[in-house]
Amino acid sequence: MLKKVIIIGGGAAGLGAAYKVRRAAEAGHDVDCILLEKDDRLGGKLATDIVRDAEGGEYVVDGGSDAFVAGKPAIGRIARMLGIAEDMTPAREENKKTLIVKGKRLIELPDGIMMFAPTKLVPLATTPLYSWPAKFRMALDWFLPRKVRWAEGETAQDHDETLESFVVRRMGRESLDRLAEPLVGGVHASDPAQMSIAATFPNFLEMEQQFGSLIRGFLAERKKREEMRKKYPPKPGAKPWAFFNTFYRGMQELTDRMADAVGRERIRTGAHVETVEHVGEGWRVTLAGGEVIDGDALIVATEAWASTLLMRGVDDELADLLASIPCSSSATVPIAFRAEDCPFDTKWFGILSPLVEKRPLLAVTLSSSKWPDRAPEDRVLLRGFIGGPANQHLLEATDEELIETVRQQLVELLGIKPDAQPVYASVYRWIGGMPQYTLGHLDRVDEIERRTGVITGLELAGGAFRGVGIPNCIESGERAVTKVLGDIGITYEEDTTPPARTH
Ligand SMILES: Cc1cc2nc3c(=O)[nH]c(=O)nc-3n(C[C@H](O)[C@H](O)[C@H](O)COP(=O)(O)OP(=O)(O)OC[C@H]3O[C@@H](n4cnc5c(N)ncnc54)[C@H](O)[C@@H]3O)c2cc1C
Repeated sequence: MLKKVIIIGGGAAGLGAAYKVRRAAEAGHDVDCILLEKDDRLGGKLATDIVRDAEGGEYVVDGGSDAFVAGKPAIGRIARMLGIAEDMTPAREENKKTLIVKGKRLIELPDGIMMFAPTKLVPLATTPLYSWPAKFRMALDWFLPRKVRWAEGETAQDHDETLESFVVRRMGRESLDRLAEPLVGGVHASDPAQMSIAATFPNFLEMEQQFGSLIRGFLAERKKREEMRKKYPPKPGAKPWAFFNTFYRGMQELTDRMADAVGRERIRTGAHVETVEHVGEGWRVTLAGGEVIDGDALIVATEAWASTLLMRGVDDELADLLASIPCSSSATVPIAFRAEDCPFDTKWFGILSPLVEKRPLLAVTLSSSKWPDRAPEDRVLLRGFIGGPANQHLLEATDEELIETVRQQLVELLGIKPDAQPVYASVYRWIGGMPQYTLGHLDRVDEIERRTGVITGLELAGGAFRGVGIPNCIESGERAVTKVLGDIGITYEEDTTPPARTH
């Protein structure tokens, strides 16, 4: 008999799940799915708009995620299955440069810095980013002993620590304030005093164990990368390799094509699930408006706060655990100017503004330099990022106020002409959009998985658990399918090994 999987949430995780259910069906299993998304747009935090300014100039604008990292294979694998691998577009490495705000200056990230650890002496010595005492303090990492030696079998999870405690302990306060906070904390829009290292960057803790020092660990990593580059030089004519990648017409291309492969007839937008019930051996969801949908299994791929509401009544302890994953809000503000109003060098990707600078703007991406064909030749497309745990109050401003805040900051930081008005600007708000992996996060996720593991036909998926990156979210959706199909008597596993590296 045909089994039906209900999937709530049309982001990367929900669509990743639905696409896998379809593959199982195409492989001959008697299973189908329905995906319910409350918004009118599919894709969740992947939201691309192709817009025009008053003069007809076209912009490819990513309002949410704008990149995926090359190192995680899930997106390449999915793109190949969907036939859109050719659209994967590397960042324009020739413009790769990060600038850090210090007072009224923009200081280039010194060469050799890996994450926040220096691996080259001269650039560290000459950068004005840090004070001299801070530079010596960072170098001390080489000599400082490990905090503890892990016992046999222990992992980073057994020695969780906040980003603040870890970086200050190894490299000093200024290293945290000037770089680790905006760069490492910024990726997760997280407060360094709360952010779990074991859940976000366990490799830092592992490096300390293995090498006794982060600098030594990152030096070893740099050497390994250089060897790999020599061993696998790019093939002539092959796309250049870049750490950051996107899709040619924006990130939403990925979720749109996944939705096409799932079959749009299986997807309902504007379908807000209000309640979930475990009825007999199956699952029942009720939409706002009262419509009821029944299924054999249920995957909840919503934000942590939304999953909390849906799980209340199904398993209250599970709902409490979900509620213990805080979510912070943010907004991105894409904004375009005429090139003649922007008298600055455009060979860079982004600006980071540390919290100690007390600016309303946390980061800026120069989209028209980072990616090809995002704006007309004579336009400059930027994207401001506002919010994060320390700046939630700023999001109370209206769209017009946020745009003006970003405009003013860009005038101040980049020297955009003070009276220059944007030729295009918009605001994308992500309310409760970024889960915070706080200290002990992995222990809570273990407990969540233990609880869902014993509830037949139910699984949770998404960025709230084991990685906020898009590849992690897709994989979490796929793992959820394996779990719920197993629960309803269908064994479906795929070979997800990435193809051998050829360059
Ligand atoms: C501004 C921003 C920039 C980012 N940049 C990057 C980046 O460059 N690279 C990267 O890898 N990651 C990035 N991330 C993180 C990444 O985009 C997310 O972690 C990921 O897309 C989350 O996918 P998801 O499917 O778990 O959840 P979501 O995309 O949040 O999808 C959940 C969906 O569930 C729906 N939903 C919620 N409740 C209900 C309900 N009751 N009924 C029906 N539907 C419901 C929501 O409307 C939503 O569409 C960024 C995140 C943000 C906010």
